[in-house]
Amino acid sequence: MSLNVADIRQQFPILFREVNGRPLVYLDNAATTQKPLAVINALVDYYTQCNSNVHRGAHYLSDEATRRYEAARQTVATYINAGRSEEVIWTSGTTEGINLVANGVAQRLKAGDDVLVTEMEHHADLVTWQQACKRSGATLKVVPIHDNGELNVDAFHESLSDNTAFVAMPHVSNALGTVNPIKELTAAAKSKGALVLVDGAQGVAHGAIDVQDIGCDFYAFSGHKVFGPTGIGVLWGRFDVLNEWPVWLVGGEMIATVSYQDATWGELPNRLEAGTPNIAGVIGLAAALDWIQQYDAAEIRAHEQALLARATELAKQTEGLRIIGDAPNKIGVLSFVLEGAHPADIGFLLDKQGIAIRTGDHCAQPLMKRLNVPGTARASFTIYNTLDEVDQLFAGINKARMMLA
Ligand code: PMP
Repeated sequence: MSLNVADIRQQFPILFREVNGRPLVYLDNAATTQKPLAVINALVDYYTQCNSNVHRGAHYLSDEATRRYEAARQTVATYINAGRSEEVIWTSGTTEGINLVANGVAQRLKAGDDVLVTEMEHHADLVTWQQACKRSGATLKVVPIHDNGELNVDAFHESLSDNTAFVAMPHVSNALGTVNPIKELTAAAKSKGALVLVDGAQGVAHGAIDVQDIGCDFYAFSGHKVFGPTGIGVLWGRFDVLNEWPVWLVGGEMIATVSYQDATWGELPNRLEAGTPNIAGVIGLAAALDWIQQYDAAEIRAHEQALLARATELAKQTEGLRIIGDAPNKIGVLSFVLEGAHPADIGFLLDKQGIAIRTGDHCAQPLMKRLNVPGTARASFTIYNTLDEVDQLFAGINKARMMLA
């Protein structure tokens, strides 16, 4: 199906509401995307037709819920080209997925090991590895970026050594929009014997993901950034790695046998999924992935690039505006600062005009420090945004600029 943005917008009821007396212009998609009716209806349908616990069923509804729930796992596996659906582990989001991996890695790390992250890390990836290193005595090495927000690939290669036990990096920077060459970086890290995790929170919404082609060991993402519900996410891991992974949460669902004094663990994926899962969230996420896959990934990317190109062009014409992060390979994020204005003031004045952006440190405080900014204002674009909305953003910025002058 070709991209008909007007038709796509019709599927997002929230885009038609007013905010502060003005039609909403929603440009905070890197924080969370809005949900199409296909997802909202899947949630309503689940709760009105088939709500029941999974994998316990001695009855019809439980069987049906289990079928839908496991079919969703296959939908995710297909979306990211996982080799097997058991490699898809449900989490509450990217943060939990990364913590699940770090819990296992920290048990294996020792003094003398290196863990590599990048200067553009989200706190979810940075703090988790920083704390894992503190607990284990391993060394956290932070690979620098260039001033334009591009990863310093030479420094990445130089940082790798036979001591590199683990590499964690974002597919796409949430603060700057930089797309990292994760396939090349993963291959280099794997050649040193390191395990590699890709933080896919921002990568997943911008085109087909192929975890086998990337070659990483783990890929974590959140449903809410790809048109799905909040509270559901995915950790994908290679079967042979996950199969050996230390268990994470313990309790119901993840065991094989239990006595008063001992327990044995179930098979993947259950061994890493304790307790009653977020069944509705899983079904909603599958609906979101089915929804996005009706559209051509190349057309979505081209649309987002057109929005970014227009925004970049208008930004360059705006007096006193400095773009933060203009790596050659970027997706739909425009981060900027305005001379003489705090990012929070820009956000406030845009909000008064019905325009939603994000301001602040974007959960990347060390990155803001590295770039020598107090934070940025960030507009982020997706499939349902229009060139007209980009123009409205800049009309809003110019108005804010006058008010702050
Ligand atoms: N990593 C990146 C790059 C992100 O953008 C985000 C969300 N802003 C996260 C991790 C954490 O995702 P969540 O809050 O959904 O767990």
